[in-house]
Amino acid sequence: MVFKSSSSEKRGKEVLKNLFYFSENQMLDCNQYCIIDSDTQEIALFDAGNSLAVSGLLKGMENCGLDHNNIKKIFLTHEHIDHVIGLYPLMEKMKENPPEIFAYGETVKILSEGDDSKICPGALGITPKMFGAKIMPLKITDLTNLKEIGINSEFSFQIHYTPGHSLGSISYYEPSKKVLIPGDLVFTGGSIGRFDFPGSSLKDLQNSIKFIAEHLDVKYLLPGHMNISDDGNKNIKMSYRYAQSMDLYF
Ligand SMILES: [Zn+2]
Repeated sequence: MVFKSSSSEKRGKEVLKNLFYFSENQMLDCNQYCIIDSDTQEIALFDAGNSLAVSGLLKGMENCGLDHNNIKKIFLTHEHIDHVIGLYPLMEKMKENPPEIFAYGETVKILSEGDDSKICPGALGITPKMFGAKIMPLKITDLTNLKEIGINSEFSFQIHYTPGHSLGSISYYEPSKKVLIPGDLVFTGGSIGRFDFPGSSLKDLQNSIKFIAEHLDVKYLLPGHMNISDDGNKNIKMSYRYAQSMDLYF
């Protein structure tokens, strides 16, 4: 099986000033977010998406007036293929002026090693070839010991370690704007991340969701898949209840 390259545009939407949402546009892709510095036009990109969707992302960015050459930082939510494999064509495209890549713990380890079998687990029946990606070791900045990372004068994100869906999962939280980028921890409508992958844990997922439900005041919930919401707290409460109910089944 070879997945079809989708050069169709990833449609962008400005969720709040200087924060854009690009919705996933094919199988094994993810939502991506861009934060723009209004002074320098520098861009921070959240998650790399599917390698076959990179041209669609760049087209979508262009239509929103964003130049991909201004991407200076890439922040990853976790190590899964649909969030990271886009790094390879993107870094190739930007090799003259490569952005700095940030991730946490296990995600840093996997991407620094550049081992095909860890990025494309054979058990899932996928290979880098299907994605047209050439896996290589990447230089990653580890967020593990950081509590907070400033992006520009307007946005500064707290880093919360929120395992359960995967070992390297983190959530980025901007308190002044009440923005949460939780990767695949929770989704809108009360869904929760899958916990049946290697490195997943239902218990950890429940604890991570409990943490964000009890400690973070969220308006903009910007997850790794499906829709976004500007009613974050309510959606997270629903996910919290759903996660707790999983004890009845597992
Ligand atoms: Zn995932």
